[in-house]
Amino acid sequence: MRHFTRRRALVVLLGVLGAFSLVLFGIWLNAIKLGGQQPAEPFRIAGNFYYVGANDVAAFLITGPEGHVVLDGGYPTTAPMIMASIAKLGFDIKDVKVLLNSEPHPDHAGGLSVLQQASGAELWASEASADAIVAGGDDPDVILPLRALFWIGLVGYPAARVDHRFKDGDTIRVGPIALTAHVTGGHTRGCTTWSFVVRDGDRALNVVSACSLVALQGTRYPEQGADFERSFRVLRSLPADIWVTSHARLWGRYRKFVASATAKSPVDPFIDPEGYRAYINTYEAEFRQGVVH
Ligand SMILES: [Zn+2]
Repeated sequence: MRHFTRRRALVVLLGVLGAFSLVLFGIWLNAIKLGGQQPAEPFRIAGNFYYVGANDVAAFLITGPEGHVVLDGGYPTTAPMIMASIAKLGFDIKDVKVLLNSEPHPDHAGGLSVLQQASGAELWASEASADAIVAGGDDPDVILPLRALFWIGLVGYPAARVDHRFKDGDTIRVGPIALTAHVTGGHTRGCTTWSFVVRDGDRALNVVSACSLVALQGTRYPEQGADFERSFRVLRSLPADIWVTSHARLWGRYRKFVASATAKSPVDPFIDPEGYRAYINTYEAEFRQGVVH
């Protein structure tokens, strides 16, 4: 009898432990999927240029009378946050006609498929980014042990349909909106920086959305060093009143958003050409020192 009770207690204990590890596994899985992203308040940066991303992985909305543009899709689980932000600003996801991307990593291209299905928008990507996006993030420049994680489905994302492949220097237009693509490779081969002009009142402001300049342990290709050199040159040549990049903490999203509420002109805190130079300088110094992440 005593023996039976002890065995029963053991079964209960194992059951509790099992349930507990399932909960932990669920939390872990959820954290991986969300990539640690939380919703963030959407806001106008300047004119027709808005922030609609999460707390760190960025997404931008550029609105126009003939349709809107969304730049970057976050993780697959960030896409609903982006859509909620677009709606909160008073715009309709169905009016988004063009989707653009900075780079095909899961934190910036993962949500494109969801956004594409919700909007019906056409996705434009650079040649190398397009190859990775249509393969759900599988990039031939990723070194082998890491690349295998894509093949077994541990990383990666739902493949989006790439409707158009652009060349370096091409301009993508939706009515009066015009964004110029600069292929600034290194972080990934097809990494794309976008430049465009935003009208805010009587001011015309040059905006640069710079692609990542981080050299990765896991991405290697023969032209990578030359691409980084060229990317630093190209980025330095672009006039930037306002600058952003795909991780919002790097351009001070929250700091500028908070400052904007009390500034004489809400746009002023976003005007930051010095921050743009400092960003390029930081990563160029890392590159010269051979820092890889
Ligand atoms: Zn990346």
